[in-house]
Formats: sequence, C-alpha cells, structure tokens
Amino acid sequence: NYGRNNYQFYSRELGSKASEYIMLGASIRQALKNAEFELFYQPQVDLMSGSIVGAEALLRWRNPQLGVVMPDRFIKVAEESGLIVEIGEWVLREACNALVSLNNNRGEQSPLSMAVNLSSRQFLYNDLLASVKQILAETGCKPEWLKLEITESLLLEDSQEIINTLSAFKEMGITISIDDFCTGYSAMSYLGQFPISQVKIDRSFVRDIAAKQDKLELITAIIRIAHALRLELVAEGVESKQQANLLKIQGCTIAQGYFFGKPMRLRHLELILADGQNL
Ligand code: C2E
Ligand code: CA
Ligand code: CA
Ligand code: CA
Repeated sequence: NYGRNNYQFYSRELGSKASEYIMLGASIRQALKNAEFELFYQPQVDLMSGSIVGAEALLRWRNPQLGVVMPDRFIKVAEESGLIVEIGEWVLREACNALVSLNNNRGEQSPLSMAVNLSSRQFLYNDLLASVKQILAETGCKPEWLKLEITESLLLEDSQEIINTLSAFKEMGITISIDDFCTGYSAMSYLGQFPISQVKIDRSFVRDIAAKQDKLELITAIIRIAHALRLELVAEGVESKQQANLLKIQGCTIAQGYFFGKPMRLRHLELILADGQNL
C-alpha cells in the first residue's frame, strides 16, 4: 500500500530528524559546561595596503562523540532551544578577550577590529545592550574595536526596541554590519534609516566576478548602492587574486576570504601579525 509506505517513510525520516535534534540540543547544553566551544578568527584585509585590519570570530564546536561540528549544523538548534543567548554571550566575551590581547601587542599600529555574529534571538530574548556593556567593561575592550554582524531579517522585525538597541550600539561607537547583504529581503531602499555603518557582500556575489561579466556588473551595482548610502564595504568569500583586484578597482575597501586566510586559531593569527606579514 502506497500510502502506508509513505507514512512509514515520513515517520522514520521525522523520527531521525527529531532525535538528532534532541540529541544535539542536549549536547549543546553540555558543550557550554564542558568548554567544547572554540573561536576561530578569519582575517579581514585592507585591499589598498594589503594589511590585516581585523578579523571575524567564527564559532567551532569540538565534541568528543561528534568531532568538530560546524556552525551551520548547530546554530539553528541553539537558536530554537534558546541556548544561543548563552552561547552568544560566551562568543562575545571570548572574542573581546582575544581582541584586547591582540591590540595590546600592537604598539603604535592602529588597533584591529573584531566582527562578532549575532543571532536575531539575542535581540529578542535578552537584554543584549546590557550584556554587551557588561562584557566590554569586564574585558576592557573598546566599543570602537567591535563590529556586530546582524542579518537583514532582524531589520524585518521592524521593532522600535531593536532599532533603539542598534542606535545605542552606534552611539557607543560600535559598528553595526549587515551580513550576507542582498541575499535576504531587499531592505535597500530604507537601509539608510537604520543605524548601520557597514555591509558585507555575500560570497555568492563574489564567486563568479572574474569569469562572468554580468556578475561583475551586479557586484559593481551593489558597491555603488553601498557607497550612495555611505556604508563601509566588506567583500566575503574572496578566493583569488583576480577577485581581490576587481573588488579593489570597483572601490571595495575591505575583503575577507580563503585567498587572504582561512578561519584560524588565535595563536596562528598572532603569529601572522607578529611577522608583520602583509597577506
Ligand atoms: P557567515 O557569518 O556568513 O561567515 C562566513 C562563512 O564563510 C564562514 O563559515 C567562513 O568559514 C566561510 N568562508 C570564509 N571565507 C570563505 C571563502 O573564501 N570561501 C568559502 N567557500 N567560504 C568562506 P562558517 O565558519 O562555517 O560559519 C557559517 C555561519 O555560521 C556563519 O556565516 C554565521 O552565519 C554562523 N556563525 C558562525 N559563528 C557564529 C556565532 O558565533 N554566532 C552566530 N549566531 N552565528 C555564527
Ligand atoms: Ca558573519
Ligand atoms: Ca556572511
Ligand atoms: Ca552566511
């Protein structure tokens, strides 16, 4: 019987998804206690000078049973269980500590910035402003060094409370950056109304710019829009020298991607910086 087989298929499928979910949820709760999370840092490079100007903190989970779990596999579960609030605070504290230590070693050089990813849930279920202030005070991290990455979907919430929080961050000197710019709902026309200072061009727009003229024109248009809105630009997913050159020619100032460096341990980033190596 076709219907019955179908039912069995679905229930088995749902069953395994649900149990994976429950399993992951329970493990994530343990992971915080057992210190299984780790941050990797991916350099951000000034395209003009070629020097490292900052890094993005990217979360990794090293579990004895599961091995290294990438964020795309567990962030959603963490969001749905609410655990992302606690994880997000850990990430912020860890990233700020790393940043303070990096900048303490820089002497006369201009300080690095650190980009930290925020989930919408952190805005909705928590006094995010208070916890950011607390973490800055605790770690000695300057607000000017910090960049908070949000997604376009957060702006879609269209909530005065969220806008107030973002405005307060901006007044403190924190940069608010739109991650995966232009991939979600196109909020472009009213982007200027939000307290945003930076956009990150998603790597899907960067991928084929060296091979396809229409892709190059598309990214050129996006760069123009960002300039018109007086937004600083970061290009993500830059994997080749040609891509880096094209972006520079089009007026993009900062780039991030495997061409410059993969996400790496703090120790590794420190070594590169100590070398004074221009990527
Ligand atoms: P994202 O914020 O868009 O981060 C960029 C992702 O692209 C990272 O994947 C990075 O490793 C990868 N990437 C960087 N350069 C290149 C490149 O040249 N080529 C290719 N193919 N990929 C590149 P990752 O680390 O697996 O993170 C995936 C997503 O997980 C992130 O996307 C972000 O949305 C989320 N995430 C990571 N860490 C956190 C966190 O601490 N909190 C929250 N809420 N989300 C996080
Ligand atoms: Ca990001
Ligand atoms: Ca991104
Ligand atoms: Ca992404």
